[in-house]
Amino acid sequence: MEELFVALQDALKKGHVSKEVADLSSYSYDASFGEYMPDIICQPMSTDEVVKIVKLSNQFDVPIYPRGSGTSLSGGPLPVNGGIVLDFSRWDNDITVYEDDLMMDVSPGVITAKIHEIAESYGLMYPPDPSSSSISTIGGNLAENAGGPRCLKYGVTKDYVVGLEIVTANGDVIRSGGRTVKNVTGYDMTKLMIGSEGTLGIITKATLQLIPKPIDTKTAMLQFDDFVTSGRAVSKILRSGILPSKIEIMDKYCVDAVLSTHPIEHVTNDAESVLLVELDGHPLALEAEMKVIEETCQALPGCKVIVARDKHQASELWEVRKLVSPAIVKFGPTKISEDTSVPVSQIPEFFKSIERIRQEFDLNLVVFGHAGDGNLHPNIITDKRKPEELKKAEQAVAEIFKASLKLGGTLSGEHGIGLFKKPFMYNEFDEAGMAFMKGVKKALDPNNRLNPGKIFPDENERFVLVHDE
Ligand SMILES: Cc1cc2nc3c(=O)[nH]c(=O)nc-3n(C[C@H](O)[C@H](O)[C@H](O)COP(=O)(O)OP(=O)(O)OC[C@H]3O[C@@H](n4cnc5c(N)ncnc54)[C@H](O)[C@@H]3O)c2cc1C
Repeated sequence: MEELFVALQDALKKGHVSKEVADLSSYSYDASFGEYMPDIICQPMSTDEVVKIVKLSNQFDVPIYPRGSGTSLSGGPLPVNGGIVLDFSRWDNDITVYEDDLMMDVSPGVITAKIHEIAESYGLMYPPDPSSSSISTIGGNLAENAGGPRCLKYGVTKDYVVGLEIVTANGDVIRSGGRTVKNVTGYDMTKLMIGSEGTLGIITKATLQLIPKPIDTKTAMLQFDDFVTSGRAVSKILRSGILPSKIEIMDKYCVDAVLSTHPIEHVTNDAESVLLVELDGHPLALEAEMKVIEETCQALPGCKVIVARDKHQASELWEVRKLVSPAIVKFGPTKISEDTSVPVSQIPEFFKSIERIRQEFDLNLVVFGHAGDGNLHPNIITDKRKPEELKKAEQAVAEIFKASLKLGGTLSGEHGIGLFKKPFMYNEFDEAGMAFMKGVKKALDPNNRLNPGKIFPDENERFVLVHDE
């Protein structure tokens, strides 16, 4: 490792390579609950530097773990086999806007919120909006095919990428796509790379497509006295002829956790479930469209509608949703966040399963998420110092996946498989499907040096939160 370290120091700028214990330990975790120490941290600032790092990793037979901001909830960037963490967070300011093409080139470390801000300064919008956008990087978003609330109307990250620059496992630089909206020349390597979780190639540049920014928005909060009815409301709204930009959900436990530290005017904690709906478009259309939503929901039993009177109230109502993630840690220090996705019609059935699992395992199991596209975040809040609680959580996670798959859903809507969901991959794919994906990995990274230990389970691997002594 010492020889590799010296070679990396020669290849990169001064101060961009480290093996200090304090640095290594800062890169040993992400927003999930795993912890693995790397051997070396590299912070490249150009494609040439990434190429040098990849070539050295091949020469010294050491794995590479690409990393953005480490907000992954699936253990995506964790260096499970040690080796090099390739931290892109300092390469955060190569940005070129092609205003008249409605496109933008970005380096991998650019923070998602900065892309939103720059697009908006041109009267444009970059739609994907993961709730972590103030800290997540575009590289991490691309590798996870990140979603977010606005994806209901606009689609996910892959729908807004027209070109990529990729450093391959052997250190070649390839370009996929370009700067045109349409491009069917050859295989669509862009789409293959997006969502590949850093296991097939390293993304060093992306060309993003922007759209005109909608003129205005309008928000309503719908409070339900029954969790399952709130699930039914989603299909009703989507079939009313209006497509909201966002439909988010929070169960009573989430709302209660937020209000206990952050009271918000007009929002009470007596509802079993709350939907937040946002419409965007022309102000005149929004008035009429919101009336349709109001009438549709008021026809449902036990539904109270609050339409925000102005921007101030709208942002207060959205505050409830924004604060859920930090607020629910009041239930315990360890958060196991899942992001199953089910067909929208199956949301009510999924909610019934969640209620059953909560009661059966007697856990703090809360649900929030992007109800409009069926992507729900059941979160188990527990304490990793209590093995008996973790055992129950392990079983509850397996039950959540089982319920989702039975309803035609999937293991992950947007957080990726990473480390923690790979034991369940054979529940969703059969042998042939898994062999096909493994074949792609083998062809593009034959020596398994890019983010090894992710997506594909080891033989007989099962989900374990607590190891028996
Ligand atoms: C509070 C909170 C809210 C969240 N909300 C959402 C949400 O609404 N929607 C959503 O989709 N996700 C959400 N997430 C999950 C997470 O923020 C996303 O997965 C995000 O895309 C990760 O970005 P990152 O920069 O932190 O990447 P990291 O966590 O550092 O890495 C994620 C993956 O990307 C790979 N990677 C990073 N950069 C590159 C690169 N240049 N080339 C190749 N591979 C690379 C890594 O190896 C890893 O597999 C949330 C997380 C938190 C903590």
